[in-house]
Amino acid sequence: MSVIFLDRDGVINEFPGVSQYVVRLDDFRFIPGALEALRKLTEAGFELFVVSNQGCVSRGLISAKELAVMTDRMTIDIKKSGGRLEGVFYCLHQKSDNCECKKPKIKMFQDALKGRVVDLESVYFIGDSREDVEAGKALGCRTILVLSGRTKKRI
Ligand SMILES: [Mg+2]
Ligand SMILES: [Zn+2]
Repeated sequence: MSVIFLDRDGVINEFPGVSQYVVRLDDFRFIPGALEALRKLTEAGFELFVVSNQGCVSRGLISAKELAVMTDRMTIDIKKSGGRLEGVFYCLHQKSDNCECKKPKIKMFQDALKGRVVDLESVYFIGDSREDVEAGKALGCRTILVLSGRTKKRI
């Protein structure tokens, strides 16, 4: 079984805009086709993990509890449409916190893979930002840059 990491904003749900966050439940909208894609990947036997920077929490724009509610709803909607998430990992910090988890650092990925024997050649990270591509390269997996969100041109 192989693993696919997914960024959240701009990959699963609509990109909220540069330096913007999804802080209200109503503003979390799945990108058209995303639920179907997640179902297909699940059916194809991939284990899916969401790995997302959500510094909005440390900025006080949304509470950790509200983020958890949003995550629950996302997970349920994905499940209802036939997909499955194995885990959701967030970094809640800001750059100035100098934490170990904020992408392009790779601690969230390592935590997700803990206890597994995986061939990183078979692992993908699908993201929409330069930090996502950098994180995937640092981890040593394959990276896919989608142009559905932050990045409009190839980098
Ligand atoms: Mg993103
Ligand atoms: Zn962090």
